[in-house]
Order: sequence, then structure tokens, then C-alpha cells
Amino acid sequence: MKRYTHFIAGGFTAETGERIDSIDPANGQVWSQISRGTADDADRAMRAAHQAFRDREWQHASADDRAALLERVADYLAANWEALVEPEIRDNGKRITEVRAQFSGLHSWYRHFAAEARKIRVEPQNNNTNGAESETHFLPYGVVVAITPWNSPLMILTWKLGAALAAGNTVVVKPSELASASTLEFAAMLHDAGLPAGVLNVVTGYGHEVGEALVRHPLTRKVTFTGSDFGGRKVAAAAAAGVVPMTLELGGKSAQVVFADADIETTVNGVLSGIFLSNGQTCVAGSRLIVETPLKQALVSRIIDRAKALRLGDPMSPATQLGPLANEQHLAKVLRMIAQAKNDGAACLLDGTTITNDRAGFFVGPTIFDNVTHDMQLWREEVFGPVLAVTSFDTEDQAIALANDTDYGLAGGVWTSDPAKGTRVARRIDAGTVYVNHYRTVDPHAPIGGFKRSGYGRELGPDAVRDFLQAKSVWTGKAPVPDPFPE
Ligand code: NAD
Repeated sequence: MKRYTHFIAGGFTAETGERIDSIDPANGQVWSQISRGTADDADRAMRAAHQAFRDREWQHASADDRAALLERVADYLAANWEALVEPEIRDNGKRITEVRAQFSGLHSWYRHFAAEARKIRVEPQNNNTNGAESETHFLPYGVVVAITPWNSPLMILTWKLGAALAAGNTVVVKPSELASASTLEFAAMLHDAGLPAGVLNVVTGYGHEVGEALVRHPLTRKVTFTGSDFGGRKVAAAAAAGVVPMTLELGGKSAQVVFADADIETTVNGVLSGIFLSNGQTCVAGSRLIVETPLKQALVSRIIDRAKALRLGDPMSPATQLGPLANEQHLAKVLRMIAQAKNDGAACLLDGTTITNDRAGFFVGPTIFDNVTHDMQLWREEVFGPVLAVTSFDTEDQAIALANDTDYGLAGGVWTSDPAKGTRVARRIDAGTVYVNHYRTVDPHAPIGGFKRSGYGRELGPDAVRDFLQAKSVWTGKAPVPDPFPE
């Protein structure tokens, strides 16, 4: 059995202290162990990252040098990504087809951030005020703490790490205690690719233990967090106590608004991909289907037919279309929410819980509820599982009111054959990303982040690297300073 330790200052640490079992969700068996990090481990990682930051080689490396290094990382990943696939699947049960698609393209994100690093410039203001001119320098913060969830550990880390390193920071990562293996393997890979020791460190363990110790550490200069609403609020409070700036990428309850004039086949594909790819364990899951009344029956019955036919199975098999949920606690939560929806009176059109007892792993099938109303938990709270809530509307205003009837605001979809209506409705949905006749695509040019309780700050997009830089004005006198107290 593989036993992982922390990755600090360019290498795996010696084994000390307690360990946490990593469970393979496809069979419920322990497949590896990670270290249960303590405040001392957090301190060691922070000091290593701080030392690497102060080292002239990193802090004062030119943006071109950092870009060249990120390109080396990209080349290395392009040649070696396959080795990361199995550790991630054994931890979170994501299907091999999805993981391979993500990881085979991982290198391109680092090439993008290399190009972004080259854009960092001193900006002259040409202001000449009171005989002085200023220019703005953009400087890294220092040590960035990156806290990541279990659903897509390496992809989410890449959005943070690429930007943070392009800006010249050093990083300590705290991956989810439920899926740390791929992040540890990845850190070792980047070190082999030439990343200097201490520039990327990984400590593992529980959020409320080592995670909180990192956020509260006096050397922490910025925190970037992706995870749940609950975890996010804890981390935001801890960061606020130290006046540490942070970015919060939290959950969602995203709406798919379907008008009666939508192309039914493309809409069905979009809705299925929104809620059943990755078992609904994606932050942008399109978990509320809001459909115009005349189309409802045809659309929903088509979605049910397709969902029923999905092949559940081993996530390591390319034939599998739906793997297990990522862990046992999560399965229990999803089952509780399905039971609650039934109790609340929602109509269960497809019940995925019937297969749960037949399998050793943490499986639940696609589940669809109709007549879901505002007061129900299923309408308001994120399931983060393959559970679709359906309701209908009769007017455009009603559709928008329903879409916005949520505390979250991460994403949304609009389906219509009328482009003007698509744009109009997309503008009125309160969410950080809205897709029209499309769903789920993410690329480095488009910012991603939440409105309302889905978080604050943005990742990716044109300001991604700027977000990891702090502006500094440097004024230079161009004329003699006059006497401030003239007679
Ligand atoms: P989680 O909040 O339980 O954990 C996320 C990370 O935070 C883990 O590493 C955890 O150990 C750590 N953590 C928890 N409490 C902490 C504390 N007090 N101090 C420091 N660290 C702490 O979330 P999860 O269950 O791993 O992930 C699922 C959630 O992530 C879902 O809500 C999902 O919507 C969200 N998510 C959001 C995005 C996005 O881009 N907005 C992307 C993926 C996932």
C-alpha cells in the first residue's frame, strides 16, 4: 500500500505522526494513506515557501525566467501526465475518460500562464503632478496558501498555481484530505521538471487542523480557496483575522432555463452533461431544470430515457459512463437529500438509490425530481450529486425569477433558438458564468467565479495573474521640491 508524506522544500518528508486512510470509492477499500498534518507541519511548509520566496533566484527572477520555467513544466507534463491519472481516480472515483481528457491538456494551461507572465510590466503613469511622476510596479505577495477540494484536485490547483507562480509567488497547497494523492505526485513531478525547492509545497490533513493553521500562519500573504460554502466561510473568517486577502470559489445551484423553441437534442445533451458528467460533482452542475410548460413533458421524458441508459461501473474502465460518488460521507449526504426531497413531496421520476445496495462502492444512479418548489431543500441547497430538480414556467420573467431564486450565483444555462432572447435572458441571470445553447466549457481566457454566496474574486481570464500581484506606486521627483512653508 502506498504511504504518502508531505512534500516540503523539494522532497517528501520523513514519516511521522498520525495517518489518514485513503479509500477507493469504487470498492470501499483502503488503497493508500496520507499524513495527518499538524500546525508544526504547516509551519515547516510555510517557512520553506518563505525562504524560497526571499531567495533572490525566485523573487527577483525576471518574468521571462518564470515564463521559461512554466514552459519547462508544461513540456514535462505533456510527456508525463499519464502517471497522475490512476492516483486521482483511486481517490475520487472520477471516470478515466474524464480524467484523461483533463490531464492530457493540463500542460496547455501552464503554457498560457507562461505567456501571461511575460505580460507583467512596470506601467508609467506620465502624470507629472507637483513635479513628480509615478509608475506602477506589480509585485508578488509572497507565500500563497491554496486550499483545494476533492472533485477535480489537479485542474483546480492548476488555475491557482499557474497564476500564482507566473506572478512570482511561492505556494503551499492543502489538498482535500479525501483526495491528496494526485497533488503530491504532481508536486514531485514539477520538482523533477525544474521547479526550485520550496516554490511548491504540499501538506496534507484535515481542513480544521492543518488547513486552518496555514491560513492563520503569520507568513501567509494570500489565500485562494475552492470548496464548500461551510469551509469557505471558516477560511474567510480566519483570513480576515490576519487581514489576508483571499479568493473564494464556492458551490452553486445553477439553473438550466429551457424555452419551448429550443433544439431538443442539443438541450438534452447539455442538461445531461451539466448534471450527470462527473456524477454532478462539479461546482457548475446544472442542478435546476426550469423548462417552459409546452416542452416539459417531451424534454423530461427524453432526459429520463437517456439517464436510465447510462452505464454505471468501474471508473478505471473507459466503457463506464457513471462512476461512484467520491466518498462514503458524500454518498450518505446525497442519499439523505434524496430522502428529504421525497418527504417534502417532490415527484421522484427516476430514483437512483435503488442501485446503491447492490454494489460495494459508493454508487448512486441518476435521480430526477419534478414539481420541486422554492421551500424544498432540493431547490435551495447544493447536492453535488447526480440529482436534477425540475420545474416549469410560462413567461420569460417567471423563468428569470426562478433562475435567480437561489442564494448562489455560480453558473447557468439558457436554451432557445432565438439569439436575442438567449442574450437577454443570459444578462438577467445573476451568475458569474452563463452559457447560451452550451454548457460547462472552461478555458483560460474566460474568468470564472461566483455572484452572491458562490464566492468572491475570479480565477482565469485576463486578470488571473494580476490577482496574485500587488500594485506599488513609485514616485520620482522631476523638479526641485519647493519649500513647503514659504514665508
Ligand atoms: P470542503 O469545503 O469540505 O473542503 C475544501 C477544502 O477546504 C479541503 O481541502 C478541506 O480540507 C479544506 N477546509 C475545510 N475546512 C477548512 C478550514 N476550517 N480551514 C482550512 N481549510 C479547510 O469542500 P469539498 O467537499 O472538498 O468540495 C466540494 C465543494 O467545492 C462543493 O461545494 C463545490 O461546489 C465546491 N467547488 C467549487 C468550485 C468553484 O470553482 N467554485 C470548484 C469545485 C468545487
